[in-house]
Amino acid sequence: MPSRLTVLSGPSGVGKGTVVARIREAYPHIWVSVSCTTRPPRPGERDGVEYRFVTREEFARMVEAGELLEYAEFAGNLYGTPRQPVLDHLAAGTPALLEIELQGARQVRAALPDAYLVFLAPPSWAELERRLIGRGTESAEVIEQRLARARVEMAAEPEFDAVVVNDDVGHAAAQLVGLIEAVCR
Ligand code: 5GP
Repeated sequence: MPSRLTVLSGPSGVGKGTVVARIREAYPHIWVSVSCTTRPPRPGERDGVEYRFVTREEFARMVEAGELLEYAEFAGNLYGTPRQPVLDHLAAGTPALLEIELQGARQVRAALPDAYLVFLAPPSWAELERRLIGRGTESAEVIEQRLARARVEMAAEPEFDAVVVNDDVGHAAAQLVGLIEAVCR
């Protein structure tokens, strides 16, 4: 039986990457898509594991060739989901998960109406604000832009099929896996 695609999205700063890293490590029966990105690797990131790191030229070629299920620009870099591995895993009946930002989640909804969209929410607006401000040493202007974007992203919650609150990474990962298993049954 073919499986159903789950998409995890939510505001930046909510901890999507951390929840998905926990799923990769603790729930290996769930296949997690490896996105392509033009962003340079961060320390510790391995090509082909967290991301496939590509040039802008290679990314443009993939878009042109229709190889991406969805893609978006985020903070000056391009990110996209290779289509074929997703379709192959779904056809084989493997539960499959994407972790992408909001514009990408909307494109998946349009391309695969059966996809199950999960919104990762912060425990509260104050907590998200704390995480976005506490990240570094950016100017007040950069922080204000980030908060404005987060407010818009938070307003998208009603577009989703389910909400998981990221109060604790282990708890959120377990809850997401429970939802994935329920919809793939
Ligand atoms: P980061 O650079 O911090 O790893 O990711 C930045 C943002 O890009 C995060 O919100 C992450 O969810 C999103 N992202 C990662 N891969 C993809 C992708 O393939 N498509 C889209 N649309 N967003 C992605």
